[in-house]
Formats: sequence, structure tokens, C-alpha cells
Amino acid sequence: MKLRTFSIIKPDAVAAGHAGAILSMLEEVGFKILALRMTRLTQSQAEGFYAVHRERPFFPSLVKFMTEGPLIVMALEREDAVAKLREVMGATNPANAAEGTVRKRLAQSIERNCIHGSDAPETAEVELRYFFSTLDLQG
Ligand code: ATP
Ligand code: MG
Repeated sequence: MKLRTFSIIKPDAVAAGHAGAILSMLEEVGFKILALRMTRLTQSQAEGFYAVHRERPFFPSLVKFMTEGPLIVMALEREDAVAKLREVMGATNPANAAEGTVRKRLAQSIERNCIHGSDAPETAEVELRYFFSTLDLQG
């Protein structure tokens, strides 16, 4: 069954002009773009989005990074969407990411790693609702 997931092209990738390359990589592995928008996060939106990491030492820096400039939020559809997106993203630290993944090709560091993808179907639904309405998600 086709399921959907949520993704962000992070501010580092947008600023570097990698948005098109990332969208191409996602389309090449069969993702349909259901919804897409360029936006900026306020500090409280970024803190809320990454609330699960609020006790981590990297949290303040992560929030600063995610608010530094425009980013692109997306709803993506595919068979096994959550796991497939995580696969094409590559490991959190680009140094550990597999060949051919977005992070291996384009990311600079464990923080500035170009792309977000939901880590479970339940998380995907919550994250999609953070940015998109039912109407947006019709595709
Ligand atoms: P994301 O949630 O953005 O898809 P992820 O699931 O691969 O990435 P998480 O462990 O959820 O990784 O961390 C969220 C984000 O926080 C990372 O993508 C990265 O930008 C940042 N981050 C994670 N670990 C570190 C770290 N040790 N140092 C600096 N930043 C980090
Ligand atoms: Mg994560």
C-alpha cells in the first residue's frame, strides 16, 4: 500500500542550491510529491518540531540552524515511504552515510545534513499535520 511521509530540505541545502538535486533524487526512487512549500521556521516552531531532542546538547544549535533561512517542507508518497526515505537520505552523520544517498552526496556535517525524514509512520502523520492541511495532502 502507498503511504506518505514528511520531509524537509533543510536551510543548508536550500542556500547551497541543492533543492533541485534533492527533489530529483527523491523522484528517481519513485516518490510522488503530494505537497511542497518553501517557508521559514520561527524559533518556537523549530523547538516544537524537534521537541524530542530538547534535552540533547546539540538542541540550541539545531534550532539556530533550522531557523537560519528558508527551507522546503514536503509530503511524499510511495510504497514503504518512511523506510525508503530514510534509506535515500543516508545516515545522520554524512561521514557514515552510504554511497549514493543525499547526505553522502551533499551534506557537510552531522548537523548540516541537508534533509529531514520522519522516523515512523505515526511520526510522519504528526509532522505532516504540523505543516499541511487535509486539502494540501490530496496530491
Ligand atoms: P532528522 O530527524 O532531521 O530527519 P535524523 O533522524 O537522521 O535526522 P536525529 O537523531 O533525529 O537524526 O537528529 C535530528 C537532527 O539533529 C539531525 O538531522 C541533525 O541535523 C541534528 N543532530 C543530530 N545529532 C547531532 C549531533 N550529534 N550534533 C549536531 N547535530 C546533530
Ligand atoms: Mg530524526
